[in-house]
Amino acid sequence: MEIQDNHRCFVCKSTLKKDQYRMNTSVMKPVCLQCAGSEKEKQSEENLLDSLADGLVCGCI
Ligand SMILES: [Zn+2]
Repeated sequence: MEIQDNHRCFVCKSTLKKDQYRMNTSVMKPVCLQCAGSEKEKQSEENLLDSLADGLVCGCI
């Protein structure tokens, strides 16, 4: 399963270089070193989890 998003920071959407990012284990998405641990990361994480939850609820449509 290949997802193009895997090569972008899920917070700022910047392109990631090899070994220049961390994995956010809550959402299983990569985050660049600038965003890692920041307030923005937490917000994006929550937004993402919310949208994932919505997707599950609305998956039947
Ligand atoms: Zn970033």
